[in-house]
Amino acid sequence: MRTIAIMNQKGGVAKTTTSVNLAAALARSGKSVCVIDLDPQGHASFHLGLDAAPGSRTVYDVFAEQCTVDDARQLVAENLSVIPSNIDLAAVEVELSNTPGREFVLRDALNHWKLQERFDYVIMDCPPSLGVLTINALCAVTEVLIPLQPHFFALQGLSKLFETTALVTRRLNRDLRVTGVALCLYESGTRLAADVTEDLRLFLTSSDADTPWAKAKIFKTRIRRNIKLAEAPSFGQSIFDYAKTCPGARDYAELGDEVLAMAQAAGSPLPLQQNAA
Ligand code: ADP
Ligand code: MG
Repeated sequence: MRTIAIMNQKGGVAKTTTSVNLAAALARSGKSVCVIDLDPQGHASFHLGLDAAPGSRTVYDVFAEQCTVDDARQLVAENLSVIPSNIDLAAVEVELSNTPGREFVLRDALNHWKLQERFDYVIMDCPPSLGVLTINALCAVTEVLIPLQPHFFALQGLSKLFETTALVTRRLNRDLRVTGVALCLYESGTRLAADVTEDLRLFLTSSDADTPWAKAKIFKTRIRRNIKLAEAPSFGQSIFDYAKTCPGARDYAELGDEVLAMAQAAGSPLPLQQNAA
């Protein structure tokens, strides 16, 4: 079982696109996957074909302890469920502001309803901020995956994001690690994309071993800019249902394979010790 927050406080960097299509790729590989939509804009829900009308059961009700996780969860495809969100979720920032332990509300709800035990992957689509919803995600997962659009200011934004994960790791969730950076909206062949990628690689390899991102991998798969990926949400379909042979579908399938391979690497037995003699 793996729990992954798709996080970046910048908007428009492909968090939702990555949450939905990575989840769909993993589900197509036979893994059971649950997406938790933590953005009050509800884009991930919509992208997976759900329009959570006001008053319907959503992740807000889970935060407010007004329903079980399974009351809010909906099956949208084989192996793929979503706990949807809508604008109701915006109230959580205010409602929890004076609640002691507000960082752990989501973690405790998921534990209570044993969600993790029933899925191979739980994927959280974070909102574009570092507020209480994102902190709840960071306290409920062990992995952070960062979608990054390689442009000039991308690395500046990353330092704030890394600072936040370091703080959460120190104070709230010792198991949290940044496990991967996915380069999205990638313009192949441009100098800028290659330069930013190289700067990122240098930054990661020169980081102290005790930072939560020391072992972060830059995924080999580059998610190229592809118009089908931008069209799919309005049809309420993942890229595999909307246009399964387009470059966007190929890229997300490949990213899914890389994410699966990390799990196998992490779970594989240690190599036998070489005999020194
Ligand atoms: P975020 O969740 O970080 O705000 P989104 O996933 O909503 O970002 O993506 C922002 C916009 O870019 C959306 O309109 C989405 O459809 C589009 N988009 C994301 N990735 C790609 C891509 N690889 N190619 C083309 N459009 C993309
Ligand atoms: Mg989004």
